[in-house]
Amino acid sequence: RVKEKWAATHPKYPPTSLALQHFDATYSVQLGKMWPSVRVALLSERKYGALLNNFSHDAVLADLQEKGCRDFINDADTEAQPCLEQVSEEESGDVPVKKSDSDGQQLSPPQLSPNIPQLSPNIKCVVFPRGDITRFKPARPDTYRLLGYYLLDAASVLPCLALNVQEGHNVLDLCAAPGGKTLALLQTQAIRFLCVNDTSVSRTLRLRKVLQSYVPKEFLTDENIRITSFDGTRWGDIERNSFDRALVDVPCTTDRHSLMEDDNNIFSKTRTGERRRLPQVQLALLLAGIEATCPGGEIMYSTCTLSQIQNLSVVEQAIHLAREKHGIHLEGSVATFNDCERERDRERKSDRQSFLCASGRAVLSARRPSAPLTAYFC
Ligand code: SAM
Repeated sequence: RVKEKWAATHPKYPPTSLALQHFDATYSVQLGKMWPSVRVALLSERKYGALLNNFSHDAVLADLQEKGCRDFINDADTEAQPCLEQVSEEESGDVPVKKSDSDGQQLSPPQLSPNIPQLSPNIKCVVFPRGDITRFKPARPDTYRLLGYYLLDAASVLPCLALNVQEGHNVLDLCAAPGGKTLALLQTQAIRFLCVNDTSVSRTLRLRKVLQSYVPKEFLTDENIRITSFDGTRWGDIERNSFDRALVDVPCTTDRHSLMEDDNNIFSKTRTGERRRLPQVQLALLLAGIEATCPGGEIMYSTCTLSQIQNLSVVEQAIHLAREKHGIHLEGSVATFNDCERERDRERKSDRQSFLCASGRAVLSARRPSAPLTAYFC
Protein backbone atom coordinates (compact mmCIF):
# COMPACT_ATOMS: atom_id res chain seq x y z
CA ARG A 1 0.00 0.00 0.00
CA VAL A 2 1.37 3.39 -0.99
CA LYS A 3 0.91 6.33 1.31
CA GLU A 4 -0.42 9.39 -0.49
CA LYS A 5 1.96 12.34 -0.71
CA TRP A 6 -0.38 14.99 0.56
CA ALA A 7 2.10 17.81 0.85
CA ALA A 8 3.51 17.40 -2.64
CA THR A 9 0.41 16.53 -4.61
CA HIS A 10 -2.54 18.14 -2.89
CA PRO A 11 -3.07 21.87 -3.16
CA LYS A 12 -4.28 23.48 0.07
CA TYR A 13 -7.47 24.48 -1.67
CA PRO A 14 -8.43 21.98 -4.39
CA PRO A 15 -9.94 23.56 -7.53
CA THR A 16 -13.35 22.03 -6.75
CA SER A 17 -13.41 23.92 -3.41
CA LEU A 18 -12.31 27.12 -5.12
CA ALA A 19 -15.08 26.65 -7.67
CA LEU A 20 -17.68 26.19 -4.95
CA GLN A 21 -16.43 29.28 -3.11
CA HIS A 22 -16.64 31.26 -6.33
CA PHE A 23 -20.14 30.04 -7.16
CA ASP A 24 -21.34 30.65 -3.59
CA ALA A 25 -20.13 34.22 -3.83
CA THR A 26 -21.46 35.01 -7.32
CA TYR A 27 -24.56 32.84 -7.75
CA SER A 28 -25.98 33.63 -4.32
CA VAL A 29 -26.20 37.21 -5.57
CA GLN A 30 -27.25 36.35 -9.13
CA LEU A 31 -29.83 33.69 -8.24
CA GLY A 32 -30.85 34.87 -4.76
CA LYS A 33 -33.16 32.44 -2.97
CA MET A 34 -32.88 29.94 -5.79
CA TRP A 35 -29.16 29.37 -5.26
CA PRO A 36 -29.43 26.71 -2.47
CA SER A 37 -31.54 24.42 -4.68
CA VAL A 38 -29.40 25.06 -7.75
CA ARG A 39 -26.33 24.33 -5.61
CA VAL A 40 -27.77 20.97 -4.55
CA ALA A 41 -28.53 20.15 -8.19
CA LEU A 42 -25.02 21.04 -9.31
CA LEU A 43 -23.50 18.90 -6.56
CA SER A 44 -25.77 15.93 -7.22
CA GLU A 45 -24.86 12.96 -9.32
CA ARG A 46 -24.90 13.64 -13.00
CA LYS A 47 -27.74 12.11 -14.96
CA TYR A 48 -27.25 11.22 -18.60
CA GLY A 49 -29.48 11.16 -21.62
CA ALA A 50 -28.96 8.82 -24.57
CA LEU A 51 -28.84 10.54 -27.97
CA LEU A 52 -30.16 7.90 -30.35
CA ASN A 53 -28.12 7.18 -33.42
CA ASN A 54 -30.48 7.16 -36.40
CA PHE A 55 -27.69 5.59 -38.47
CA SER A 56 -27.63 2.46 -36.30
CA HIS A 57 -29.47 -0.59 -37.56
CA ASP A 58 -30.36 -1.92 -34.11
CA ALA A 59 -33.77 -1.34 -32.50
CA VAL A 60 -32.20 0.74 -29.77
CA LEU A 61 -35.21 2.92 -28.98
CA ALA A 62 -37.53 -0.01 -28.30
CA ASP A 63 -34.87 -1.62 -26.16
CA LEU A 64 -34.35 1.52 -24.06
CA GLN A 65 -38.09 2.13 -23.75
CA GLU A 66 -38.46 -1.40 -22.48
CA LYS A 67 -35.91 -0.56 -19.80
CA GLY A 68 -38.12 2.37 -18.72
CA CYS A 69 -36.58 5.25 -20.66
CA ARG A 70 -38.75 8.17 -21.78
CA ASP A 71 -38.58 10.48 -24.73
CA PHE A 72 -36.78 13.60 -23.51
CA ILE A 73 -37.92 15.74 -26.42
CA ASN A 74 -41.54 14.84 -27.13
CA ASP A 75 -42.89 13.15 -24.03
CA ALA A 76 -45.67 15.35 -22.63
CA ASP A 77 -44.55 14.55 -19.09
CA THR A 78 -41.06 15.83 -19.72
CA GLU A 79 -42.11 18.81 -21.78
CA ALA A 80 -40.56 22.05 -20.51
CA GLN A 81 -41.97 25.16 -22.07
CA PRO A 82 -39.35 27.85 -22.36
CA CYS A 83 -40.14 31.09 -20.58
CA LEU A 84 -39.25 33.96 -22.80
CA GLU A 85 -38.45 37.59 -22.36
CA GLN A 86 -38.17 39.80 -25.37
CA VAL A 87 -34.85 41.50 -26.07
CA SER A 88 -34.71 44.02 -28.81
CA GLU A 89 -31.48 45.40 -30.16
CA GLU A 90 -32.18 48.67 -28.42
CA GLU A 91 -32.58 46.90 -25.08
CA SER A 92 -29.54 44.79 -25.52
CA GLY A 93 -26.84 47.45 -25.18
CA ASP A 94 -25.81 48.12 -21.61
CA VAL A 95 -29.18 47.33 -20.14
CA PRO A 96 -29.44 43.94 -18.41
CA VAL A 97 -31.69 41.72 -20.44
CA LYS A 98 -32.93 39.67 -17.53
CA LYS A 99 -35.38 41.67 -15.46
CA SER A 100 -34.73 41.12 -11.79
CA ASP A 101 -36.31 41.93 -8.49
CA SER A 102 -34.17 43.11 -5.60
CA ASP A 103 -33.01 39.54 -4.81
CA GLY A 104 -31.68 39.18 -8.30
CA GLN A 105 -34.38 36.62 -9.07
CA GLN A 106 -36.32 36.41 -12.27
CA LEU A 107 -39.66 38.12 -12.16
CA SER A 108 -42.69 35.95 -12.62
CA PRO A 109 -44.79 34.94 -14.36
CA PRO A 110 -42.59 34.44 -17.40
CA GLN A 111 -44.19 35.26 -20.73
CA LEU A 112 -44.24 32.89 -23.65
CA SER A 113 -42.92 34.51 -26.76
CA PRO A 114 -44.26 34.07 -30.27
CA ASN A 115 -40.61 33.68 -31.27
CA ILE A 116 -40.06 30.18 -29.92
CA PRO A 117 -37.92 28.67 -32.66
CA GLN A 118 -38.86 25.60 -34.60
CA LEU A 119 -36.91 22.54 -33.71
CA SER A 120 -34.36 20.71 -35.80
CA PRO A 121 -35.97 17.44 -36.96
CA ASN A 122 -35.10 13.81 -36.19
CA ILE A 123 -33.04 14.37 -33.04
CA LYS A 124 -34.07 11.77 -30.48
CA CYS A 125 -32.95 11.57 -26.88
CA VAL A 126 -34.20 9.38 -24.04
CA VAL A 127 -33.76 9.62 -20.29
CA PHE A 128 -34.71 7.52 -17.31
CA PRO A 129 -37.69 9.01 -15.43
CA ARG A 130 -37.34 11.68 -12.80
CA GLY A 131 -35.71 10.35 -9.68
CA ASP A 132 -34.31 7.31 -11.50
CA ILE A 133 -30.54 7.50 -11.75
CA THR A 134 -30.03 4.18 -13.50
CA ARG A 135 -26.91 4.32 -15.61
CA PHE A 136 -27.04 3.51 -19.29
CA LYS A 137 -24.96 0.55 -20.38
CA PRO A 138 -22.24 1.38 -22.90
CA ALA A 139 -23.71 1.38 -26.41
CA ARG A 140 -23.04 -1.73 -28.48
CA PRO A 141 -21.96 -1.76 -32.13
CA ASP A 142 -24.46 -3.03 -34.71
CA THR A 143 -23.55 -5.33 -37.59
CA TYR A 144 -22.00 -2.33 -39.39
CA ARG A 145 -20.00 -1.48 -36.25
CA LEU A 146 -22.04 1.69 -35.61
CA LEU A 147 -22.95 2.44 -32.00
CA GLY A 148 -26.62 2.76 -31.07
CA TYR A 149 -26.52 5.79 -28.79
CA TYR A 150 -24.25 8.50 -27.43
CA LEU A 151 -24.40 9.47 -23.77
CA LEU A 152 -24.50 13.13 -22.90
CA ASP A 153 -26.22 15.55 -20.59
CA ALA A 154 -29.68 15.67 -22.13
CA ALA A 155 -29.63 19.49 -21.95
CA SER A 156 -26.88 19.35 -24.57
CA VAL A 157 -29.40 18.45 -27.25
CA LEU A 158 -31.33 21.68 -26.64
CA PRO A 159 -29.00 24.01 -28.56
CA CYS A 160 -29.07 21.54 -31.47
CA LEU A 161 -32.87 21.41 -31.43
CA ALA A 162 -33.22 25.17 -31.14
CA LEU A 163 -30.70 25.77 -33.93
CA ASN A 164 -33.63 24.89 -36.17
CA VAL A 165 -31.64 23.12 -38.86
CA GLN A 166 -33.68 22.65 -42.01
CA GLU A 167 -33.28 20.69 -45.25
CA GLY A 168 -30.31 21.80 -47.34
CA HIS A 169 -28.69 24.04 -44.75
CA ASN A 170 -24.98 24.82 -44.57
CA VAL A 171 -24.05 24.59 -40.91
CA LEU A 172 -21.00 25.68 -38.92
CA ASP A 173 -20.15 24.00 -35.61
CA LEU A 174 -17.42 26.36 -34.43
CA CYS A 175 -16.29 24.71 -31.15
CA ALA A 176 -17.26 21.15 -31.88
CA ALA A 177 -15.08 18.69 -29.98
CA PRO A 178 -15.57 16.09 -28.65
CA GLY A 179 -18.58 16.05 -30.94
CA GLY A 180 -21.79 15.36 -29.00
CA LYS A 181 -23.62 18.24 -30.62
CA THR A 182 -22.08 17.57 -34.03
CA LEU A 183 -23.50 14.09 -33.78
CA ALA A 184 -26.91 15.45 -32.76
CA LEU A 185 -26.88 17.84 -35.74
CA LEU A 186 -26.01 14.99 -38.10
CA GLN A 187 -29.03 13.04 -36.81
CA THR A 188 -31.25 15.54 -38.62
CA GLN A 189 -29.93 14.18 -41.96
CA ALA A 190 -31.01 17.54 -43.33
CA ILE A 191 -27.64 19.30 -43.54
CA ARG A 192 -26.17 19.87 -46.97
CA PHE A 193 -22.71 20.76 -45.70
CA LEU A 194 -21.42 20.66 -42.14
CA CYS A 195 -18.28 22.52 -41.20
CA VAL A 196 -16.87 21.19 -37.93
CA ASN A 197 -14.11 23.05 -36.12
CA ASP A 198 -12.28 22.97 -32.82
CA THR A 199 -9.00 24.64 -32.02
CA SER A 200 -7.74 21.67 -30.02
CA VAL A 201 -6.08 19.12 -32.26
CA SER A 202 -6.32 16.32 -29.70
CA ARG A 203 -10.00 16.99 -29.08
CA THR A 204 -10.60 17.16 -32.83
CA LEU A 205 -9.09 13.67 -33.07
CA ARG A 206 -11.58 12.49 -30.47
CA LEU A 207 -14.35 14.07 -32.51
CA ARG A 208 -13.20 12.21 -35.63
CA LYS A 209 -13.32 8.94 -33.68
CA VAL A 210 -16.81 9.74 -32.41
CA LEU A 211 -18.03 10.40 -35.94
CA GLN A 212 -16.42 7.20 -37.22
CA SER A 213 -18.14 5.20 -34.47
CA TYR A 214 -21.61 6.60 -35.21
CA VAL A 215 -21.89 7.78 -38.80
CA PRO A 216 -21.54 5.67 -41.97
CA LYS A 217 -18.53 6.52 -44.13
CA GLU A 218 -20.72 7.66 -47.02
CA PHE A 219 -22.00 10.55 -44.87
CA LEU A 220 -18.49 11.65 -43.97
CA THR A 221 -17.21 12.58 -47.42
CA ASP A 222 -15.49 15.89 -48.27
CA GLU A 223 -18.67 16.91 -50.03
CA ASN A 224 -20.68 16.62 -46.83
CA ILE A 225 -18.36 17.57 -44.03
CA ARG A 226 -15.14 19.46 -43.35
CA ILE A 227 -13.26 19.04 -40.07
CA THR A 228 -10.72 21.70 -39.10
CA SER A 229 -8.71 22.84 -36.09
CA PHE A 230 -8.60 26.59 -36.57
CA ASP A 231 -8.84 29.26 -33.93
CA GLY A 232 -12.56 29.94 -34.17
CA THR A 233 -12.15 33.57 -33.12
CA ARG A 234 -10.57 34.16 -36.56
CA TRP A 235 -13.43 32.60 -38.50
CA GLY A 236 -14.66 35.96 -39.68
CA ASP A 237 -11.37 36.33 -41.57
CA ILE A 238 -11.76 32.87 -43.11
CA GLU A 239 -15.37 32.70 -44.21
CA ARG A 240 -18.05 35.37 -43.97
CA ASN A 241 -21.75 35.31 -44.77
CA SER A 242 -21.55 31.62 -45.63
CA PHE A 243 -23.67 29.55 -43.26
CA ASP A 244 -27.41 29.22 -42.71
CA ARG A 245 -26.79 28.14 -39.14
CA ALA A 246 -23.88 28.50 -36.73
CA LEU A 247 -23.52 26.71 -33.42
CA VAL A 248 -21.13 28.50 -31.05
CA ASP A 249 -20.77 26.15 -28.07
CA VAL A 250 -18.04 28.04 -26.29
CA PRO A 251 -15.48 27.03 -23.67
CA CYS A 252 -16.73 28.17 -20.26
CA THR A 253 -16.34 27.49 -16.55
CA THR A 254 -18.25 24.19 -17.04
CA ASP A 255 -19.85 24.66 -13.62
CA ARG A 256 -20.79 21.06 -12.99
CA HIS A 257 -17.40 19.65 -14.00
CA SER A 258 -15.62 22.34 -11.97
CA LEU A 259 -17.46 21.25 -8.82
CA MET A 260 -16.84 17.55 -9.37
CA GLU A 261 -13.37 17.00 -10.83
CA ASP A 262 -10.06 18.42 -9.70
CA ASP A 263 -8.33 17.24 -12.87
CA ASN A 264 -8.33 19.69 -15.74
CA ASN A 265 -10.28 22.15 -13.62
CA ILE A 266 -10.53 25.75 -14.83
CA PHE A 267 -10.49 26.91 -11.18
CA SER A 268 -6.99 25.52 -10.55
CA LYS A 269 -4.55 28.31 -9.67
CA THR A 270 -2.51 27.65 -12.81
CA ARG A 271 -5.54 28.43 -15.01
CA THR A 272 -6.67 31.65 -13.35
CA GLY A 273 -5.64 33.79 -16.34
CA GLU A 274 -7.43 31.46 -18.76
CA ARG A 275 -10.57 31.59 -16.64
CA ARG A 276 -10.54 35.37 -16.47
CA ARG A 277 -10.13 35.60 -20.25
CA LEU A 278 -13.13 33.34 -20.92
CA PRO A 279 -15.74 36.08 -21.50
CA GLN A 280 -13.36 37.76 -23.94
CA VAL A 281 -12.82 34.51 -25.88
CA GLN A 282 -16.53 33.73 -25.78
CA LEU A 283 -17.35 37.13 -27.20
CA ALA A 284 -14.79 36.75 -29.98
CA LEU A 285 -16.16 33.31 -30.86
CA LEU A 286 -19.76 34.50 -30.90
CA LEU A 287 -18.86 37.46 -33.08
CA ALA A 288 -17.02 35.12 -35.44
CA GLY A 289 -20.11 32.89 -35.61
CA ILE A 290 -22.30 35.91 -36.36
CA GLU A 291 -19.96 37.03 -39.13
CA ALA A 292 -19.84 33.53 -40.62
CA THR A 293 -23.62 33.36 -40.86
CA CYS A 294 -25.38 34.66 -43.92
CA PRO A 295 -28.14 37.28 -43.74
CA GLY A 296 -31.32 35.58 -42.57
CA GLY A 297 -29.28 32.84 -40.90
CA GLU A 298 -29.41 31.85 -37.25
CA ILE A 299 -26.69 31.65 -34.63
CA MET A 300 -26.87 29.59 -31.47
CA TYR A 301 -24.66 30.49 -28.51
CA SER A 302 -24.45 27.95 -25.74
CA THR A 303 -22.50 27.42 -22.54
CA CYS A 304 -22.69 25.03 -19.60
CA THR A 305 -22.44 27.70 -16.96
CA LEU A 306 -25.01 29.74 -15.07
CA SER A 307 -22.74 32.77 -15.08
CA GLN A 308 -24.44 35.91 -16.28
CA ILE A 309 -21.04 37.30 -17.28
CA GLN A 310 -20.50 34.37 -19.64
CA ASN A 311 -24.08 34.27 -20.88
CA LEU A 312 -26.16 37.43 -21.08
CA SER A 313 -23.26 39.86 -20.95
CA VAL A 314 -21.47 38.12 -23.80
CA VAL A 315 -24.66 38.03 -25.84
CA GLU A 316 -25.42 41.68 -25.22
CA GLN A 317 -21.92 42.77 -26.13
CA ALA A 318 -21.92 40.61 -29.25
CA ILE A 319 -25.20 42.13 -30.44
CA HIS A 320 -23.83 45.60 -29.80
CA LEU A 321 -20.44 44.99 -31.44
CA ALA A 322 -21.91 43.15 -34.42
CA ARG A 323 -23.95 46.26 -35.15
CA GLU A 324 -21.27 48.84 -34.36
CA LYS A 325 -18.26 47.13 -35.92
CA HIS A 326 -19.76 45.01 -38.67
CA GLY A 327 -23.12 46.61 -39.40
CA ILE A 328 -24.89 43.34 -38.65
CA HIS A 329 -28.30 43.78 -37.09
CA LEU A 330 -29.76 41.15 -34.80
CA GLU A 331 -33.10 41.08 -33.03
CA GLY A 332 -34.59 38.65 -30.67
CA SER A 333 -35.74 37.35 -27.35
CA VAL A 334 -34.34 35.66 -24.31
CA ALA A 335 -35.77 32.35 -23.17
CA THR A 336 -35.18 30.84 -19.79
CA PHE A 337 -35.45 27.12 -19.29
CA ASN A 338 -34.46 27.76 -15.73
CA ASP A 339 -35.92 25.05 -13.60
CA CYS A 340 -35.27 26.91 -10.43
CA GLU A 341 -37.45 29.82 -11.26
CA ARG A 342 -40.28 27.32 -11.41
CA GLU A 343 -39.41 25.94 -8.01
CA ARG A 344 -42.52 27.54 -6.62
CA ASP A 345 -44.56 25.42 -9.01
CA ARG A 346 -43.18 22.10 -7.87
CA GLU A 347 -46.02 20.00 -9.20
CA ARG A 348 -45.19 20.97 -12.74
CA LYS A 349 -41.51 20.11 -12.43
CA SER A 350 -40.39 17.63 -15.03
CA ASP A 351 -37.39 15.51 -15.87
CA ARG A 352 -36.20 17.98 -18.40
CA GLN A 353 -36.42 20.88 -16.05
CA SER A 354 -34.33 19.15 -13.45
CA PHE A 355 -31.80 18.24 -16.12
CA LEU A 356 -31.57 21.80 -17.19
CA CYS A 357 -31.18 23.03 -13.69
CA ALA A 358 -28.46 20.50 -13.06
CA SER A 359 -26.51 21.24 -16.15
CA GLY A 360 -26.81 25.00 -16.25
CA ARG A 361 -26.77 25.37 -19.97
CA ALA A 362 -27.40 28.63 -21.69
CA VAL A 363 -28.25 29.01 -25.32
CA LEU A 364 -28.59 31.99 -27.54
CA SER A 365 -30.05 31.85 -30.95
CA ALA A 366 -29.95 34.82 -33.23
CA ARG A 367 -31.02 35.59 -36.74
CA ARG A 368 -29.56 38.21 -38.95
CA PRO A 369 -30.86 40.59 -39.97
CA SER A 370 -34.13 41.70 -38.39
CA ALA A 371 -35.22 38.30 -37.24
CA PRO A 372 -35.62 36.80 -33.80
CA LEU A 373 -32.73 36.27 -31.47
CA THR A 374 -33.39 33.86 -28.66
CA ALA A 375 -31.36 32.99 -25.60
CA TYR A 376 -32.10 30.04 -23.34
CA PHE A 377 -30.78 29.94 -19.83
CA CYS A 378 -31.10 26.58 -18.26
N1 SAM B 1 -19.62 21.30 -28.81
C1 SAM B 1 -18.84 20.32 -28.10
C2 SAM B 1 -19.67 19.08 -27.92
O1 SAM B 1 -20.89 19.14 -27.95
O2 SAM B 1 -19.08 18.01 -27.73
C3 SAM B 1 -18.30 20.83 -26.79
C4 SAM B 1 -17.49 22.08 -26.96
S1 SAM B 1 -16.65 22.54 -25.50
C5 SAM B 1 -17.91 23.22 -24.54
C6 SAM B 1 -15.77 23.93 -26.04
C7 SAM B 1 -14.72 23.64 -27.07
O3 SAM B 1 -14.21 24.87 -27.54
C8 SAM B 1 -13.51 22.84 -26.60
O4 SAM B 1 -13.46 21.64 -27.29
C9 SAM B 1 -12.32 23.72 -26.95
O5 SAM B 1 -11.24 23.00 -27.46
C10 SAM B 1 -12.91 24.63 -28.00
N2 SAM B 1 -12.26 25.93 -28.16
C11 SAM B 1 -11.69 26.71 -27.22
N3 SAM B 1 -11.21 27.84 -27.78
C12 SAM B 1 -11.50 27.76 -29.10
C13 SAM B 1 -11.24 28.60 -30.20
N4 SAM B 1 -10.60 29.76 -30.06
N5 SAM B 1 -11.64 28.20 -31.42
C14 SAM B 1 -12.30 27.03 -31.58
N6 SAM B 1 -12.55 26.19 -30.57
C15 SAM B 1 -12.17 26.55 -29.35
